[in-house]
Amino acid sequence: MTLDLSGRVAVVTGASRGIGYFIARELAAAGAHVIAVARTVGGLEELDDQIKADGHGQATLVPLDLTDMAGIDRLGGAIHERWGKLDILVANAGVLGVISPIGHVEAKTFEKVMTVNVTSTWRLIRSVDPLLRLSDAGRAIILSSNAAHSARAFWAPYAASKAAVETMMRSWAHETESLPLRVNAADPGATRTAMRAQAMPGEDPETLPHPSEIARRIVPLASPELKETGLIFQAKHNRFVAYRQPE
Ligand code: NDP
Repeated sequence: MTLDLSGRVAVVTGASRGIGYFIARELAAAGAHVIAVARTVGGLEELDDQIKADGHGQATLVPLDLTDMAGIDRLGGAIHERWGKLDILVANAGVLGVISPIGHVEAKTFEKVMTVNVTSTWRLIRSVDPLLRLSDAGRAIILSSNAAHSARAFWAPYAASKAAVETMMRSWAHETESLPLRVNAADPGATRTAMRAQAMPGEDPETLPHPSEIARRIVPLASPELKETGLIFQAKHNRFVAYRQPE
């Protein structure tokens, strides 16, 4: 079944490259108006050009550093003023920090990972939750990672940040389960992006799925028909799980 998101307004963070870029393109291709957030203006402009070339949907570009919490609050206000609602939130932006023994992680690195991956996600949820409730079928997709569960050696800051956002997602889903709003996490699995290359420099990227393929699997979570809430969608396996074992 083809996904029709015409008339729907979507925020995608981390839309300048990687998985977020392709999620934004897929949402636009389904007819959504995409509010694309990231710091790199060049990447956002490339997305805008591509969406125009694809011939569907539209984009509004928001160059914003997500460590700017007041900026996140302003974004919610601006969306309210222009559209009076939000239909889709894709909280995708994230940073890896460093792969290192926990005792060697610098304080500023740990704090950056927590600020971008956790605090800014909470702040964004706080900013747009009232707008998602105004939609007839609000959908939130929070990007997570198997690292949240595998607790792999040397990945502590990133793993802890993803465990935090997943738990936050589940609390939010419980709070909203009687509403039309559906809130889920998406675990893309190992994907050919800059972040993965930083984590696994020795790996051949050609062995990994392209982010466009992963984005195509994740975007149906924005469908007004979606029933699931409070779950984790594993893109690699194309399935929802409530809890998971480390892979
Ligand atoms: P990339 O590093 O390719 O892209 C990260 C995106 O986040 C960029 O668009 C970047 O934009 C944005 N971003 C980072 N910091 C900030 C900031 N301070 N303010 C605004 N935007 C910011 O990562 P991926 O595409 O690989 O990852 C996307 C999501 O998927 C992440 O949440 C990641 O944890 C998760 N994930 C990825 C996996 C993988 O194998 N790739 C596996 C499991 C989970 P800019 O620099 O322009 O600001």
